[in-house]
Amino acid sequence: MKVYKFGGTSVGTPERMKEVLEIAKGGAGLVVLSAISGTTNQLDALAAAYEKGAEDKVAEILDGLSEHYARYVESLLNDPVMLKKAYDFVHSELRALASLDETNPDLRSGFILSRGELISTYLFHLLCTECGVDSRLISALDFISLDSNREPSVDRIGEELTPILASRDAGFLLITQGFICRNHRGEIANLGRGGSDYTASLIGAAVRAEEIQIWTDIDGMHNNDPRVIEGTRSVERLSYDEAAELAYFGAKILHPACVHPAKKAGIPIRLKNTMSPESPGTVIDGQTRKAGVVAIAAKDEITVIKIRSARMLLAHGFLQKVFEVFGRFETAVDMVTTSEVSVSVTIDDDSRLFSIVNSLSEIAEISVEKDQTIVCIVGDFIGSSTGYASQIFTALADIPVRMISYGGSKNNVSILVETQHKEAALRALHQGLFTQTVAHV
Ligand code: ADP
Ligand code: ASP
Ligand code: MG
Repeated sequence: MKVYKFGGTSVGTPERMKEVLEIAKGGAGLVVLSAISGTTNQLDALAAAYEKGAEDKVAEILDGLSEHYARYVESLLNDPVMLKKAYDFVHSELRALASLDETNPDLRSGFILSRGELISTYLFHLLCTECGVDSRLISALDFISLDSNREPSVDRIGEELTPILASRDAGFLLITQGFICRNHRGEIANLGRGGSDYTASLIGAAVRAEEIQIWTDIDGMHNNDPRVIEGTRSVERLSYDEAAELAYFGAKILHPACVHPAKKAGIPIRLKNTMSPESPGTVIDGQTRKAGVVAIAAKDEITVIKIRSARMLLAHGFLQKVFEVFGRFETAVDMVTTSEVSVSVTIDDDSRLFSIVNSLSEIAEISVEKDQTIVCIVGDFIGSSTGYASQIFTALADIPVRMISYGGSKNNVSILVETQHKEAALRALHQGLFTQTVAHV
């Protein structure tokens, strides 16, 4: 069985949702859907408006959503019975959003954000019924949950889903929501923005799917960020580790956590374009490829913390003290470079920055700089061939590079630049590593 995940733009219009049905109906697999594009942003704005007590804004957003869904439903369905069911469902969800009495902001936001996927999957289920495609809608809230460390359990998903899969008739499509889940207290939560990819991978791993297909609005993983560089092209094959590095370092096409469950279970992930189903897209699997640079990605909003201490020279245990601080404040470090008297580290979550700097100040002199970008060059850099480092650094000759990390893994060379130089760095690398002429978007 295959797991198919369709992202927000793939169900962004009624016509696209109908195309999704065409793609999925032959496969008798499990379909994971995102919310209709734009609606999660609106729901996020709704949660923010509730938090501020901005009643006018709440009403304005709900009116906008109501109109948007009404137009969507009207051209999605024809059968009066299906149309009535769709309107009733949407109205009851919007009524629930208009009369929220939950006062805990996290719980309120969890409830609000979950409506996008609950509505899109219900509408898709009605479309299947109208088109005579046998389907069953199952709620991700019944089988995806997080433990107290916010980790989902693949085994638990398997235990819940296996009997459902065994009992369904052949040819049945199973439909469920991406992104949404329950927390360890059973409350409605989610896997973070863009989390539907992660849902698909967790389910694929749990049911030992033959393949996990992620359908989106582009023909697979491109060799550079298509939002910044013109003339990027789709990469045919990636290893799990390469794909994980690219996703973690900013390639938005995949949620950063999505590769891990598939890799652990040895299930290939195929990235496909809903707008061009015949394009081959990208296959991510465990097979070895030839050495070389494959793709470049960039991650913004990075903060660099420089930790200087004259006492660090020959002092053992210093790094341990430094990393203990990041551990205590549950903040992940992405890049690290050291010299005789200083250590520089980068973080992308700066919500605990104040406490981190306070604690580090007890052992060293600290300086902080924001608005940094990590540019990550991904490929297979171990092999008999040499010269990748010089190729990369020649390409970057005119870019002011702040930090370099090479050798941490065989798949990644990372550099840190000020965000104002990111575009130039991506362009220079693209030109130097993949092509001679690169236009600027
Ligand atoms: P979905 O709504 O289907 O989940 P996303 O917007 O999350 O889609 O991801 C697809 C988008 O990712 C593309 O439209 C593209 O702009 C962006 N993207 C960023 N980096 C890359 C890359 N290296 N390859 C392909 N797409 C990328
Ligand atoms: N709808 C959610 C979001 O917009 C999850 C997803 O699309 O993957 O972030
Ligand atoms: Mg996405």
